[in-house]
Amino acid sequence: MLLILEPNTQKEQQEKIIQRIETLGLEAHVLPGKGRFAIGITGNSSPLEPNQFSGLSGIQEYIRVSKPYKLCSRDFKEENTIVKVGEVAIGNGSCVYFAGPCSIESYDQLHTIGKEVKKAGAKILRGGAFKPRTSPYSFQGMGIEGLKILQKVGEELEMPTITEAIDLKSLELVNEYADMIQIGARNMQNFPLLKEAGKLSKPIFLKRGPSASLDELLCSAEYILREGNSQVVLCERGLRSFDSHTRNILDIAFVPVMKKLTHLPIIMDPSHAAGRRDIIADLAKACVAVGADGVMVEVHHKPSEALSDGPQALLPEDFKDLLAH
Ligand code: PEP
Ligand code: MN
Repeated sequence: MLLILEPNTQKEQQEKIIQRIETLGLEAHVLPGKGRFAIGITGNSSPLEPNQFSGLSGIQEYIRVSKPYKLCSRDFKEENTIVKVGEVAIGNGSCVYFAGPCSIESYDQLHTIGKEVKKAGAKILRGGAFKPRTSPYSFQGMGIEGLKILQKVGEELEMPTITEAIDLKSLELVNEYADMIQIGARNMQNFPLLKEAGKLSKPIFLKRGPSASLDELLCSAEYILREGNSQVVLCERGLRSFDSHTRNILDIAFVPVMKKLTHLPIIMDPSHAAGRRDIIADLAKACVAVGADGVMVEVHHKPSEALSDGPQALLPEDFKDLLAH
């Protein structure tokens, strides 16, 4: 439930309302907004009734929020959330590019690619150190050595960094070395991982599973917000389909629909959706046109030698053309 308070409600009245909520064994979330002051209530397994707040002054309206996610919903917070990654702000109206290789392979590889994407206009450097691969025989990532390279290159190029955590152990390491933590499509419903990520103060980049509904993704985000970390962005990276011309189907409606449902920034990843270099720039332009807060693209200077996702890596010059467009 959402309680809309009367304008000019005194602090004392607010505290009494919060106390009542806590007496009911529930959690109160103070939600100051532009034209209203609200208190969101979570923790109830059955619907609340207005008479549970009888005797309290200052409540103007009771709004039932029946969705299974609340803190990440527009109902609870009308204003867009701005997520800060180092000095880079995501969600303030401009489109932020995340770029870099799928996997970190060496210092020289990441530095070469990083330098190029920064020059072209990328704001955040990506690179996987822990790779969730379909086959156990595929390259699994450089692990902690990769994280050290990412940190070094990020510092040298003055770019904030993002890399994926695949389990609780890597989460601790990624939290230590990177500026933003990616939780990948395969881990979207790894609830223990989401809860731990929610206890951290680093921003979280949560990807949609290839067959997850929007409500399921929002519930996963809720796990993180509920633990106290509200610095979360949501990313569409393609849905599994029946057609083999693209690796996945890019759900372009993700942006406008999610913008209605949530205040969290919305990012698009056309690389994992397309799986093929020749159409990624066109898809990226569509993502910008539809209002994405950010676009993540994989870039490699020698895609034929890449240890993962070479066929979908843009060449640095393709990336430069895309951003110059
Ligand atoms: C990645 O970003 O390299 C990755 C593995 O992404 P996803 O989780 O979307 O497959
Ligand atoms: Mn990849």
